[in-house]
Amino acid sequence: MNIEIVAIGDELLLGFTINTNAAYLARQLAPLGIRIGRSTTCADDARAISAAVGEALERSDGVITTGGLGPTADDKSKPAVASLFGRKMVMHADILAALEARWQNRYGHPLPPGNRQQALMPEGCVVLGNNHGTAPGVWLENESGRWVAMLPGVPREVRGMLADTLLPRLRLRIPKDAPVISTLTLRSTGIAESALADRLGELAAGVDGLPLAFLPGNDGVDLRLTAWSLPREVAASALATAAQRIRERVGQWIYGEADEDLAHLILEQCVERRLTIAVAESCTGGGLGSRLTAIPGSSRSVLGGVIAYANEVKIRELGVGPDVLERVGAVSEEVALAMASGVRERFGAGVGLSITGIAGPDGGTPEKPVGTVWVGLSMAGQDMAVRGLLPGNRSEIRYRAAQMALDQLRRRFVALGFAAPGGASESTHAASVASRSERIGWTTRVS
Ligand code: ATP
Ligand code: MG
Repeated sequence: MNIEIVAIGDELLLGFTINTNAAYLARQLAPLGIRIGRSTTCADDARAISAAVGEALERSDGVITTGGLGPTADDKSKPAVASLFGRKMVMHADILAALEARWQNRYGHPLPPGNRQQALMPEGCVVLGNNHGTAPGVWLENESGRWVAMLPGVPREVRGMLADTLLPRLRLRIPKDAPVISTLTLRSTGIAESALADRLGELAAGVDGLPLAFLPGNDGVDLRLTAWSLPREVAASALATAAQRIRERVGQWIYGEADEDLAHLILEQCVERRLTIAVAESCTGGGLGSRLTAIPGSSRSVLGGVIAYANEVKIRELGVGPDVLERVGAVSEEVALAMASGVRERFGAGVGLSITGIAGPDGGTPEKPVGTVWVGLSMAGQDMAVRGLLPGNRSEIRYRAAQMALDQLRRRFVALGFAAPGGASESTHAASVASRSERIGWTTRVS
């Protein structure tokens, strides 16, 4: 089934509202094999709406619109679409009665005249009930089976109505063995997009006929495989095989799948191994602690941390040597190591993890440019520090520094033979130990 989405609303065109409805609909419909050929945004204007919906309908089996169903004067969608189908607007007595009752019960006064138009519906339509707001949706269909489904604009109502009324209707129109659109996402971190592409070689252009998308973000680069039109079971195994081929080349940078969070995966390992963790943070100012404590149940492993922003605090609370700070500066391997071991010893933790760096925009020097970050890890009698040169603005650098610290711990876990976060195979465990000091994304030095 090929459909199009038309999002209606001046506020979308002006950029005050982000069109999350289109993204949500697309993500929900793809697994059913519903392909969205085009997604349009148009103004709250009757002519613009009928033009956009009319053109979309010529190219597709059906169109879903969002917005413009409410009681406000800018809500022109229903009459515009009714005219496309050559239908009049008629008053629905039962919808009017329900609206009147709702206003009396909820607000204790009669329905305002302006809200009566919500009960006006295109002649011959199916009313899509709305249990999440006042404006009901509309389903209109012509003789050749082409349809328009109209949903309100409020995202919560769109989600509710899609699940309650629209998806069940669409499912009836899709054959059981119809091809689906499915995706598999591998999450990588600590490696730049271009380096990842180099290592993937010919797979970067697609794996076994499945297109591969590179999606860089603050967590790292997500690799998304998409199977566009295969039967459900075939798609699942094709995606799994392709993902395995990717892991064989770049598995050491893969920490998880779909929307898995590195902090969550790390904590699972800590809980399983009964490892406690303490953090010492300078430039991230608590960002690492925040990532870890955002996970429910984190108290089983996270003991706490020190935001050691000023040098005095690094000295007093973590035992960093004043002479070291004097000699090599706060953003250095020695200080990262001292912060990590200091916080581990003082908190009596199994793992001490530290971050010190220059988040900018000021404070960079030729030797230590903005983005320079040292992560220290003190654990199991082996302390190490890693230097990174992270791209981005201040907030991106701070976020990426926390992710880099979590990734160092993940790498240590992999090297120790703990079950690999992200489920990497045995062969990739070995590879990750061997290439720990490679200069990709950031440089490493084991002390
Ligand atoms: P209402 O009864 O509130 O008038 P409506 O069906 O008429 O609902 P709109 O007036 O178009 O819908 O939008 C209602 C709210 O939903 C607004 O706050 C708007 O910013 C938001 N909204 C509208 N369209 C979208 C969209 N495509 N994505 C995200 N939010 C949206
Ligand atoms: Mg409105």
